[in-house]
Amino acid sequence: MTFAILPGETPCLRCVFPDPPPQGLVPTCDTVGVLGPAVAVVASLQVAEALKVLAGRRDLVNRRLAVVDVWDTSLQTLELPARDPDCPCCGKRRFEYLEAPLRAQG
Ligand SMILES: [Zn+2]
Repeated sequence: MTFAILPGETPCLRCVFPDPPPQGLVPTCDTVGVLGPAVAVVASLQVAEALKVLAGRRDLVNRRLAVVDVWDTSLQTLELPARDPDCPCCGKRRFEYLEAPLRAQG
């Protein structure tokens, strides 16, 4: 999944996913790995959106959530919720995840 975030204009990641899923409930890259081609496809979509911004064509930036499944060879886009003015991150500028102490890896 990928979507472009235009600060102050479009929802941020936390507007779309206010709370992280409970630990252990959702498979992660650590538990199931990453399919290499999925990384390449998502990176290509993200770079295309960045090029639109750099070219001054913010009007062309995709404002939907792109969901890619390289295993099923499918791509769909879903409508994003509106930006939440009370969002702790983009609305209230609280970045508790960035300010959290680092966890030991291993
Ligand atoms: Zn937000």
